[in-house]
Amino acid sequence: MGSTETIAAPPEVVARYEPVIGLEVHVQLMTRTKLFCGCSTEFGSAPNSQVCPVCLALPGALPVVNREAVALAVRAALALNCEVRRSSRFARKNYFYPDLPKGYQISQFDRPLAEHGWLDIALDAATKRVGITRVHLEDDAGKSIHDGFADSDRYSYVDLNRCGVPLIEIVGEPDLRSSAEAYAYLTDLKQILQYVGVSTCDMEKGHLRCDANVSVRPRGTDAFGVKTEIKNLNSFRFLQKALDYEVARQVAIIESGGTIHQETRLFNADTGETAGMRSKEYAHDYRYFPEPDLLPLVVGEQWLDEIRAQMPELPAAKRKRFVATYCVREYDAQVLTSSPQLADYFEGTAVKSNQPQAAANWVTGDLSGALKAAGKSIEDSPVTDANLAELIVLSTSGQISGKLAKEVFAKMFASGRSAPEIMKADGLQQISDVGELEKLVDEVLAANPRQVEQYQAGKKGVLGFFVGQVMKLTRGQANPAVVNEVLSRKLR
Ligand code: ADP
Ligand code: ZN
Ligand code: MG
Repeated sequence: MGSTETIAAPPEVVARYEPVIGLEVHVQLMTRTKLFCGCSTEFGSAPNSQVCPVCLALPGALPVVNREAVALAVRAALALNCEVRRSSRFARKNYFYPDLPKGYQISQFDRPLAEHGWLDIALDAATKRVGITRVHLEDDAGKSIHDGFADSDRYSYVDLNRCGVPLIEIVGEPDLRSSAEAYAYLTDLKQILQYVGVSTCDMEKGHLRCDANVSVRPRGTDAFGVKTEIKNLNSFRFLQKALDYEVARQVAIIESGGTIHQETRLFNADTGETAGMRSKEYAHDYRYFPEPDLLPLVVGEQWLDEIRAQMPELPAAKRKRFVATYCVREYDAQVLTSSPQLADYFEGTAVKSNQPQAAANWVTGDLSGALKAAGKSIEDSPVTDANLAELIVLSTSGQISGKLAKEVFAKMFASGRSAPEIMKADGLQQISDVGELEKLVDEVLAANPRQVEQYQAGKKGVLGFFVGQVMKLTRGQANPAVVNEVLSRKLR
């Protein structure tokens, strides 16, 4: 079924068209057990070790809905500003595949859990509101494994551990107008879902999967073109690459007088191209019908209120609050709210040091750098927020110089010890003793007669040179304020 058209239009031609993109995102809910049975959802266990009559679809087994999964789905829906339906229902989506023992997926069709939401995404200079069509619950299929075995050339294997794991599908409106907007949408969507504790969104474990629908139309026109759906986008980068390729491909076809066929295409990460996989199936192909083994899914007003009351502060609100309360720069607020854990760490440091901007600088600068280099996440930071706050106070009160603070920080990060402990053990106490510093200043002045002359001739900038020399002699331990005072006095 391979396609022959691997042509792509040149950029100046592509620029005359506007992409129209809508994403369908599948997210694995963070439950311990599956959607309709008590089997574990633990990742990485031995194949087919987490199965039971229900998820194996043995005759007579009946599904029972997992209340926690529903609660998480509702949380996601509320975070995405959706209206949650009081009574939704499950439907069977019928298709045949070896990793689907039931012969159908339990999903939701005509009465989904939630609809009519939106998400504000952060673009370079502005935010853009993107519509969320619906959020519905469904169970996952198993996994076919085609290689990695001695007899892979003759056999494929099926692992059903994932079968029945709870997912939500988030269908987005076709509001995105570039691959960059699609990237931003997925980034912000992932962040929100992590914030509200709905999913880890770990793409490597398949906890976040994205299909992209894309069409193009001549700029300035309103009607949507025929769309294709791209599957197998297992990284943010692939999403953007696949969309760019697919847009250029569609434009080339239209420019040469051809037409786009509605179809499902597969992204090939090795070639960076998409290839036709099958003609798009339509809803009627799935023979959807209400799931007879399950009652309507009722989310009562009281339960909804309870879930609403437990919603944490969302990233956009946190960002605004950080700017308003702590006066940190907009950009810093953006970085600091990238995860709830980082935001909490910053807030702890800001409050304990009472120096919010310094806290922001340390957290986004030295700390983030050290964490990255060590391959650690903020939860595993060897420097606690209290210890970082203590260092900030020592530094801003002039008890240690900025340079020394950085050295001490590196040692704190390596050892997990506090700043005072390190300074004591390493003899890094700041030298503020006037008598001791006067001696050093005398030494520096005696060794640099030419600079002394320059200073006395009016070149006051040379003072910085002298301070630097004293710092060098003390390996950064001299109190800069005292050094400045002594120098000015001696040079007068
Ligand atoms: P289908 O009937 O093929 O499932 P839907 O209308 O349900 O199509 O939309 C599925 C996804 O495709 C949604 O994310 C939607 O935003 C997107 N979409 C719909 N029409 C277009 C289009 N013309 N171009 C790009 N994306 C589209
Ligand atoms: Zn089971
Ligand atoms: Mg559809």
